[in-house]
Amino acid sequence: MRFEAQRQEALLQARRSSASQSGDPAADAPQAAESAARARRHAASTCGWCGGPIRVRATGRLPKWCSASCRQRAWEQTRAAASGRSAVQIVERRVETPVAIPPTRSDWPRLLGELVTQLDTGRIYNRDLDEMSAALIAISASMTRRLYIRSRTAPRAH
Ligand SMILES: [Zn+2]
Repeated sequence: MRFEAQRQEALLQARRSSASQSGDPAADAPQAAESAARARRHAASTCGWCGGPIRVRATGRLPKWCSASCRQRAWEQTRAAASGRSAVQIVERRVETPVAIPPTRSDWPRLLGELVTQLDTGRIYNRDLDEMSAALIAISASMTRRLYIRSRTAPRAH
């Protein structure tokens, strides 16, 4: 945007200087009016967007832009300025990806208690019971192994 402002200022200065070069034509003299019109046409031969040359025809509307794309970009800039935003708005979105945190030892009694509640209240469906049962058998076998190992390795169970 800073660069854009500098460019606009440069264009304004270029327009002012070319306007002063054309002098102050007497409005009542037809020749002066004609030369003023010519001077206006000359001053208008610079694109208001890119500063490039505009091919000005002898008659017809004075073009402000050298091309359709410059006119379009200038229009977008004007519209954006009117809406108080820049023409190109980059929207950054923070995307949160849920990451499962493994339960720790202090979580398990509460979680398994919740499992008991869900089983007893029917919140776990019949179709899920086989898978659940296999997992619980694995837990039971693992717990049996651990208790056996503890009884063999530790002199006293704490
Ligand atoms: Zn242009």
